[in-house]
Amino acid sequence: MSSVDRSADALRRALRTIPDFPEPGIQFQDITPLLANPNLLARAADVLAAPFADAGITQVLGVESRGFILAPLIAQRLGAGFVPVRKEGKLPHDTITTSYELEYGTDTVEVHADALNADDHILIHDDVIATGGTAAATARLVEQTEAALAGFSFLIALADLNGRDALPADAAVHTALPVAGA
Ligand code: AMP
Repeated sequence: MSSVDRSADALRRALRTIPDFPEPGIQFQDITPLLANPNLLARAADVLAAPFADAGITQVLGVESRGFILAPLIAQRLGAGFVPVRKEGKLPHDTITTSYELEYGTDTVEVHADALNADDHILIHDDVIATGGTAAATARLVEQTEAALAGFSFLIALADLNGRDALPADAAVHTALPVAGA
């Protein structure tokens, strides 16, 4: 087994699936046991940053709220900054906004308008990609700026939901831990 496979295996074993949370039918991927282990926390950030080591990333966008946990650690490894992508009404300065469809209703994400500039190369990170709606909306935020979208990084992909298909076809998408199930 390679060291990459060993890391993925150790990270996967630290995940916990909570059935029917926060509502019936959702298999919630709980990453808190992984985060609580100092060795696995560092390893997760290493594994997520590694594919983008030579991509010239200048800013890592983390999506509220669990994307906030690992994005700054990834940013540190890449020598990049961290930019929070927040739900509507949380950021204090001028924002760029986009909305996206949920199963019931819509949701809105925002970023500070002055956070992304023409010379930025952006990595978007979230803990989980399910349908891909959140990550695709975050990509649309980047597209409203002059910054270049370099790729996406996820700790977990719920493979059966094919969230990758919602993202730009030419984007670099790296997932540390694909998991079966939706
Ligand atoms: P989606 O927009 O459908 O790709 O959903 C991704 C967002 O919802 C991420 O911010 C995740 O943190 C959260 N999420 C969706 N499904 C799950 C799940 N089964 N377990 C944990 N988080 C989830």
